[in-house]
Amino acid sequence: MNLYKRAIDVMPGGVNSPVRAFGSVGMEPVFFKYAKGPYVYDVDGNKYVDFICSWGPMILGHGREDFIEKAKTYLAEGITFGLPTEIEVEMAEFLTKATNTDMVRMVNSGTEATMSAIRLARGYTGRNKIIKFEGCYHGHSDALLVKSGSGTLTYQAPTSLGVPADVIKDTIVCQYNNIEDVKKQIESNKDQVACVIIEPIAGNMGVVVPDKKFIQDLRKLTEENGVVLIFDEVITGFRTGFGSISKDFEIEADLYCFGKIIGGGLPVGAFAGKREIMKNLSPTGGVYQAGTLSGNPLAMKMGLDILKYLKDHGEIYEELDHFAEKLEAGFNKNLKESGVKGKVSRYKSMISLFFGDFDKIKSYEDVKHADTETYKVYFKKMLDRGYIVAPAQFEAIFLSDAHTEEMLDKFLEDNLEVLKEIAANK
Ligand SMILES: *Cc1c(COP(=O)(O)O)cnc(C)c1O
Repeated sequence: MNLYKRAIDVMPGGVNSPVRAFGSVGMEPVFFKYAKGPYVYDVDGNKYVDFICSWGPMILGHGREDFIEKAKTYLAEGITFGLPTEIEVEMAEFLTKATNTDMVRMVNSGTEATMSAIRLARGYTGRNKIIKFEGCYHGHSDALLVKSGSGTLTYQAPTSLGVPADVIKDTIVCQYNNIEDVKKQIESNKDQVACVIIEPIAGNMGVVVPDKKFIQDLRKLTEENGVVLIFDEVITGFRTGFGSISKDFEIEADLYCFGKIIGGGLPVGAFAGKREIMKNLSPTGGVYQAGTLSGNPLAMKMGLDILKYLKDHGEIYEELDHFAEKLEAGFNKNLKESGVKGKVSRYKSMISLFFGDFDKIKSYEDVKHADTETYKVYFKKMLDRGYIVAPAQFEAIFLSDAHTEEMLDKFLEDNLEVLKEIAANK
C-alpha cells in the first residue's frame, strides 16, 4: 500500500501540520526521507532543490557534518533532565545580548512563545483585549486564530471550529499597515488593550512589507497608551539579520517571540523582553508558564551552536540577501518575458512570488486576490523539474547558505520555461 494511503488512514490528512498535505496545490503530499545541503530527497529517491528549508530553521542547509558531529556528543551527554542546566544560562545570556533584551523564557514552539507572551502582556497590564492584524499568523492558540494567514488563508477558514466565541471576543483584528485603524481601536477600547502583536515583516500571507513609518507610529501609539508591543519574529528573527529585526525600524518592541531558526532544527521557541515585564512570569511573578521539555540541553546546545555560527558569519546574511535580490530580478524579468501576471514582494532574504494583478502589496486586502489557480500549476511544474517551493501561494521562499549562485541561475531558467508553459495554456 502506498505511503499516502497508509498516512491518511492513521493521521488526519496524512500529516502533522496542514500545509504539508499539499491541499492548496491540489495534490497528494510527497513524502521525504533524507536531506543534504540544499537538497531534499523523497521516498522514491527523487532529488529536489529545497526552497522551504523547514520553513526557516535550515538556514545553513541540511546535514552539516560539523554540526552533526557535535550533536552526537550532546546526545551522549544527556537529552533532557527536567532540571536546571548550565547551557540554559548560556543560551539566555546569548539570546538576550543578541536581541537587546533583559530576560528570556525558552519554550518548544513559536505557538507557545506567542501564546505565552500574550498571557504575560495581559497579566502585566491587567487588561484583556489584544490587537492582531489581518493576514498575520502567530501559531495556533485559540485567541490568535482569527484571520491568521497561510494555512488558514489557503483553506478559506479565517477562524477555526472549536474556538469558542468567548475566547476571541477580546481579539481585535486591524488592517496591516494601517495606523489609523489601530488608533481607532485603541481609542474606542481605552485602557483595555493589553498588547498589539505583529509580524514586523509579514511572512504568512506571503511576504508583505509594511511601511517603516507604520511600525514606528505603532511603537509611539502603543507606548503612549501603555500597550505592550509584541514583535512576532518567529520568521524574521535571526533570518533577516542577526538578532531582532527591530533595529531596521530604529525602534524597540517590549516583547519578542522567536522560533524556527533558533533551535537549529529542533523544536524550540522563546519569548524575551524587558525585566520589568518578564519578571511577572512564574515563579517570580503571577503569570503561569511552564514546560517539561523547555530549555532541554540537546535543543539548547544545537540552537546555541547555530546562533553562535551566525554571529561569527555575518556574511551569510549578505549572501542570502543577494540570493533573494537575484531571485527578485529574475522573477520580474521572467514575468515580463512570459507575459504571466504577477508581482514579487521582498524584504532582505524574505521573498514571495505572487500570481495575479496587483498595483501594490501592502496588506492582506491586497494579496487576497492572488491567483492561487496559477500557483497550483506553477508548483506542480516546478516540482516536476526538481524544485520544492512552498505548497501554497501565501508563503515565503526560504533560502540557505547551501544554495549556490549556479543553482539559482538554473532555477530561474526553469522558472522562465514554466511561466512560458503557463502563458501558452491560458
Ligand atoms: C511559524 C510561525 C509561528 C508558529 O510557530 P510554530 O513553531 O509553528 O508553532 C508563529 N509566528 C510566526 C510569525 C510564524 O511564522
